[in-house]
Amino acid sequence: MQPSGPESSKNTTITFVGHSTTLVELSGVRVLTDPIFREKFRLLRRRSRICARRIDASSLDAIVLSHMHFDHMDYPSLRMVPRNVPIFAPVGAGRYLEREVGHEVIELRIGQRVRLGDIEIHATPSLHDSGFYWPFWYPKSVLSFMFVGSHTVFFVGDSALCEDFRDLGRDFDVDVAMLPVWGCGPYLRGHHMTPADAAEALSMLRPRTAIPIHWGTVHPVGPMWRKMAFFADPPHHFAREAARLAPMTEVRVLSPGDKTIIGAKTATESVLQDFGIETLFAGPAPAPAIAG
Ligand SMILES: [Zn+2]
Ligand SMILES: [Zn+2]
Repeated sequence: MQPSGPESSKNTTITFVGHSTTLVELSGVRVLTDPIFREKFRLLRRRSRICARRIDASSLDAIVLSHMHFDHMDYPSLRMVPRNVPIFAPVGAGRYLEREVGHEVIELRIGQRVRLGDIEIHATPSLHDSGFYWPFWYPKSVLSFMFVGSHTVFFVGDSALCEDFRDLGRDFDVDVAMLPVWGCGPYLRGHHMTPADAAEALSMLRPRTAIPIHWGTVHPVGPMWRKMAFFADPPHHFAREAARLAPMTEVRVLSPGDKTIIGAKTATESVLQDFGIETLFAGPAPAPAIAG
């Protein structure tokens, strides 16, 4: 698809809201990933000005949750989204989410797929267990998601580098891979990819376009953290390594709040800071149908 002229609802656009929160607009369907909207959560602070006052998520079609780590699953953020928006989550997450946020939760196992309007959402593997879950009884299952519509978009919440990426690159013709390139705040430990790992993942997935995520959004309390290298460098390190390891892949570095059109050459713009996230949501929600 080569968009030209004004954007239509059939364009594929990716908005990097920040950290692992992205908005994928594909084949007229709007899916939000791992939503974190609060300016303050736990001991972290969020850089972006995107907060509750600016969110109107009334026409989202679905939320996908990769896992129950606190920087990916946040009850207050989920409560900001209307209850009629279904949540697709890993097995075991449903009982907590339904009780705390009241949304319909559709639990998925690796290999299952769901039809939602004109797209399919495939539950795919991640290799991620940092050992830190709170409360400790939260389910430890972790998913990544492949969205298949007019383009194929891959979203990874958290993962170490793993051979599953090679299988996914063989099974799917990936247009866009949104890969985490850093940890949480200044920390990169447990099952996370370094920027170089994420670039190596590109050589396995072989996407046309890559968008680094999970960086530049959250930091511990105090303004000095924003000046530190972890806050800005990871996506550029990733881009340099990707040029070497996966030269066939175009890397687009979006800052939190930026939106890009897939299929357009220079179509990245900052939207959230200028216009507010409410400009991104419109349209009816299609009903999901599970398969696989
Ligand atoms: Zn995690
Ligand atoms: Zn994370």
